[in-house]
Amino acid sequence: MVDLQLGKVQTHYCDICGDWLEFCFDRYTVTHERLIVHLSNIPLLRCDHCIQYYFPEKTKLLLSTVLEQAEESGKPVVRLSPRQDFNRRFEYGQVDFLYDYRDYENIPGLQRPWDDGFLTPVFFNLAVLNKYSQHPDYRLDLFSKTYGTLEKNQNFILLLASIGTEKLLCGWVTLTNCR
Ligand SMILES: [Zn+2]
Repeated sequence: MVDLQLGKVQTHYCDICGDWLEFCFDRYTVTHERLIVHLSNIPLLRCDHCIQYYFPEKTKLLLSTVLEQAEESGKPVVRLSPRQDFNRRFEYGQVDFLYDYRDYENIPGLQRPWDDGFLTPVFFNLAVLNKYSQHPDYRLDLFSKTYGTLEKNQNFILLLASIGTEKLLCGWVTLTNCR
């Protein structure tokens, strides 16, 4: 049986080796007693070192519901692929940032019971930061390759973190009226 670890809050680290887990969409097959659930394009967390998958909290709930329904219906094999056509947007900021709400909903530590969507990772071209580094109204501090802040009038606009590629940078919008 798959261990959904429902009593434990999933973190961003592998239980076995302690490595950072990568958020991904992948196939996964769950077996529970005589039930087999084939999932495709499901949000998962993967340790590349141990080749081990973990379940984001939302995926745990989905799996437990699917297993319950499969048990009740008596179907031995279930196939499930979550809809991908829904695009959730949050009300933060006046910039039409590029982001995927599924990052916010599945990456451990981003969701909070208040300010829904507040810590959504957003993506933009790194070259944009050049403009702000020269602009007198803004203050750009890059403390390392993977962490920095962008402020305007002593208000945080972005906490910059986790640079992924040369062109894209992931940050968190932290001010509701940022421009
Ligand atoms: Zn590991």
